Amino acid sequence: MKSHSQVVIIGGGVVGASVLYHLTKIGWTDVLLLEKNELTSGSTWHAAGGVHTYNSDANVSRLQKYTIDLYREIEQISGQSCGLHATGNLVLAANATILDNIRMIHSRSQYLGLEVELISPREAKALNPLIDEREFVGALHRMDGGHVDPNGVTQAYAIAARKAGAEIRRFTRVTALEPRPDGGWLVITDQGEITCEHVVNAAGLWAREVGHLAGIELPVLAMEHMYIVTEDIPEVVAFGREILPSTDYSGEIYLRQEGKGVLMGTYEQDCRVWSPDVTPWDFNMQLLPDDLERLAPHLEIGFKHFPPIGRAGIKRVVNGPFTFAPDGNPLVGPVRGLRNFWCACGVMAGFAQGGGVGLALSRWMAEGDPGADLFAMDVARYGPFATRAFTHTKVQENYRRRFRMSFPNEELPAARPLRRTPIYDRLQAAGAVFGANFGLEVPLWFAPKGMEAVETPTYRRSNAFPVVREECHAVRNAVGLMEISGFGKYEITGPDAAAWLGRVLAGKVPAPGRMALAPMLNEQGRIIGDFSLACLTRDRFLMIGSGVAEVYHMRWFELHPPPAGTVIRAQPHALNGIAIAGPKSRELLQRLVREDVGNAAFRFFDVREMTVGMAPATVIRASYTGDLGYEIWVTPDYQLTLYEQLVAAGSDLGLCHFGNRALMSLRLEKGYGAFLREFRSDYTPMETGLSRFVHYDKPDFIGRAAALKDRASPPAKRLVTLIVDASDAEVSGYESIMKDGKAVGQVTSGGYAHWAGKSVAMGYVQSDLANDGETFVIGIIGDNRPAQIRTTPLFDPDGGRQRG
Ligand SMILES: Cc1cc2nc3c(=O)[nH]c(=O)nc-3n(C[C@H](O)[C@H](O)[C@H](O)COP(=O)(O)OP(=O)(O)OC[C@H]3O[C@@H](n4cnc5c(N)ncnc54)[C@H](O)[C@@H]3O)c2cc1C
Repeated sequence: MKSHSQVVIIGGGVVGASVLYHLTKIGWTDVLLLEKNELTSGSTWHAAGGVHTYNSDANVSRLQKYTIDLYREIEQISGQSCGLHATGNLVLAANATILDNIRMIHSRSQYLGLEVELISPREAKALNPLIDEREFVGALHRMDGGHVDPNGVTQAYAIAARKAGAEIRRFTRVTALEPRPDGGWLVITDQGEITCEHVVNAAGLWAREVGHLAGIELPVLAMEHMYIVTEDIPEVVAFGREILPSTDYSGEIYLRQEGKGVLMGTYEQDCRVWSPDVTPWDFNMQLLPDDLERLAPHLEIGFKHFPPIGRAGIKRVVNGPFTFAPDGNPLVGPVRGLRNFWCACGVMAGFAQGGGVGLALSRWMAEGDPGADLFAMDVARYGPFATRAFTHTKVQENYRRRFRMSFPNEELPAARPLRRTPIYDRLQAAGAVFGANFGLEVPLWFAPKGMEAVETPTYRRSNAFPVVREECHAVRNAVGLMEISGFGKYEITGPDAAAWLGRVLAGKVPAPGRMALAPMLNEQGRIIGDFSLACLTRDRFLMIGSGVAEVYHMRWFELHPPPAGTVIRAQPHALNGIAIAGPKSRELLQRLVREDVGNAAFRFFDVREMTVGMAPATVIRASYTGDLGYEIWVTPDYQLTLYEQLVAAGSDLGLCHFGNRALMSLRLEKGYGAFLREFRSDYTPMETGLSRFVHYDKPDFIGRAAALKDRASPPAKRLVTLIVDASDAEVSGYESIMKDGKAVGQVTSGGYAHWAGKSVAMGYVQSDLANDGETFVIGIIGDNRPAQIRTTPLFDPDGGRQRG
């Protein structure tokens, strides 16, 4: 074995092989893959090999499409067949809810360039004769996708990579990893040692153990998974061509043709974790004992919905383990706190996603950026809350829900409540319905007395709709109170704080006592952060951003650290907040503070440290509701007292609680974008409109050259707000925005603007169409609704309320 390699990839399953290939493709050829046994010997060799393009995240969908398109390329380069059956596939709807779901997928697919059509059960039967059409109400026909040969795909990647200069060593197990002072790694194997600059954890079933070698606990766990293969089925034999792979969510079943029979798998409710504590190193090319009992309820539905399968004998049962992250998406990217340690693991659909994972990771390693916003796959979407116990609970929940409908308003119950603020009990007593945000319970809305604090999951308007309307009106007419501890909070202190912030952020650094909105760009000039930056003193700043992006942002800050003596600290547990907003919020605040908070003394975007009631606090005059409002930040020990005093002082002002649902409604009618929705690394300042907060004249900030280039020419697309003529459902995100039958844009978020009384969508459309009054059509769960651009905010267009 050579003594040094630029990159060592640990794991020769489909994912490691893809990363190896993509690194050579991007020009890194001094790359070595270490595999402890044969290639594919983990979870890869026994996979069903099904591939499809759709994912609930648009960019993951794009990468899945890339993966499928890639198979022809690697076949050509390697001369190795991938066993590609490019049949397309069917998603079958057995009830009205699933029909809504496939209609939503249909609307989202158009802008993504995925070829899909909604068809009748009869038309579906013409593509898969096993279907009993009486059991279904509709189907989605996807033209791309099908299935592949797992071994063929892995070998094709490996051969193509070797041809480009990569090296693969089989039967070489990595037994230890030691970080080196130069930022590289010493990789110790049972066949000798090797140094490298970068390590990639593509160890699949052993990703958790390889994480341990580097001293980290990755949120990944293996589950058992079974499929059956039947004897020949006369209807399949008679069909004369391949039947279309089909998914039936009502039975949690997928199936495809195998020989002249079928392979049918299911995500059973009675699921099993595999190797919860330690994965045996000698588990190579092995299967697990089958247990058809566990599948019985699902097979029963399968036999009813596809009767010829019920008449066929079972030839073989495959039970193999594969790994999942708590939300079922892969764990990709650099790990915060470790230098040059990369993840490409937790890939639950290696054949649908492996190519995309390889592409994104190779770009990230070679170019410093994955090429698109990949937060949905980013290992940094998890923080310290994702402990082993959390992962065990969530992965099982995810497995059971793999083929269940998920709804835009749905909150999953497992591993909750986990993180709670000191006012959690009070909010619960006030009727709060909570959602989980980076493990923290945050109120979504407040059920009034007599109403159960439970929201019905739906694609349409839920039981919360009228309640949220009341909350919005209470804010706009009087004053609302909201828990805001779920935001990401950072303290920056030291003599170079202002200079460092000026370099790492693209916006203006405010003067003491002031706040500024501060976008953050990557080197490519794309949006990777959207902060409120408050200057407390010359050398002390408080920065507020997205709560779920805390690890993502800290990883970036640590890559671009401040000079010695200046420090940035995330404050997830050190600072809690309550926001008050609405026309009476000033009066409420004034009742609890000695300082004059009148408009002249405490202006919009002013920041003061003051005592609120009995709590030492930092108060910022700003509100994401777009109204007059204040954020009050205190240490956790004061939050309950602050809450009690605000509630007592506000009772005669009409104070009401409001939650995140109302906040989202209020920000929409002001036209405010949200991070990871409107603002993400897919977009530039000119496209988002955040250019007005970019301080282009600063001599130096990260992404400046690209930002100047972006400013020099008109953007191809622009963020717009649309008023939708909706009926009983709002957009949920990623729907295509259509004009004259062509997809000209994509929705990023939306909802009902309760105060304005309008259904609103935000999204990007091509620039020549981004004009006031321009009309479009948006498909909302199968219903084509007219939509019109509105360039002035629905609420407070001249800012009089906010600034007055
Ligand atoms: C029954 C079943 C059906 C499936 N069907 C589908 C499907 O239809 N479509 C789909 O896309 N996916 C499917 N999957 C999932 C798919 O198998 C996985 O997504 C994929 O195999 C993951 O590949 P991987 O490379 O990440 O992991 P693995 O295949 O587990 O590869 C990891 C490799 O790393 C090696 N390794 C680990 N530790 C070390 C070490 N310390 N030193 C050296 N080498 C090491 C292992 O030996 C192993 O070869 C299915 C899985 C199962 C179980």
